Amino acid sequence: MSPLLIGTCAIACGGAGLLLPRVAYRFAVPFGEPLRAACAGCGVPLRPGVRGLLSVRLTCAACAARLGPPSWLTGVAAGLAGGLLAAALGPAAVLPLYLAVAVLGVLLAAIDLACRRLPDTLVLPALAVTPVLFAIVAAGTGQWGDWLRALLACLVSGVVFVGMALLPGGGYGMGDAKVSALLSWYFGWLGWHAVLLGALLPWLLNAPLLLALLASGRVGWKSQLPFGPALLGGGLLAVCVAAW
Ligand SMILES: [Zn+2]
Repeated sequence: MSPLLIGTCAIACGGAGLLLPRVAYRFAVPFGEPLRAACAGCGVPLRPGVRGLLSVRLTCAACAARLGPPSWLTGVAAGLAGGLLAAALGPAAVLPLYLAVAVLGVLLAAIDLACRRLPDTLVLPALAVTPVLFAIVAAGTGQWGDWLRALLACLVSGVVFVGMALLPGGGYGMGDAKVSALLSWYFGWLGWHAVLLGALLPWLLNAPLLLALLASGRVGWKSQLPFGPALLGGGLLAVCVAAW
């Protein structure tokens, strides 16, 4: 375990995490609506394009309403995830891919907490590009066995989780299923034990959270709660435990 590697990865992911609140704010819209283009408080248009998306300005210039979650929170979450992944995986060729999906995960968790959605516009491109990026790594390292296992894990999990999302009455949605399939690729690369941990840990994390919310009276039995944060947090834990 190299402190230099852990520190570098934590700082890189933490820095990327600082840029996420504005992106999360733009994506946190009801299903089917385009990206948010104006401040929800006063209606003043937000700066368009990539510069507007990656702005570090935290409040609306006109009405001072906060735009998105606090950046220290997304920065700390992404930095922590980056450090943990570097400690667990070491200087592996695939480490940058795990770091990238961790930053994406923080963004997805922030959007899910804001509007109970895991947008296809973020998840589907990640699902499409992941096999290609891992194939580039496998071409260099010869880990084609790991690549094939990751593909199988992704496909099997995809079928199982989409089936679960189609069951009526559950709080588990189609967005959750697609993110589960994406994460299963990363679990599958590490081994079937990681796939199993990745499937179980989110539910174990979600149960005490739900019970605490129910006990505090803040939610009822019928409340729809976002599952994304538990899914992504449990996924991070699964990668760390499996790699160690
Ligand atoms: Zn405003």
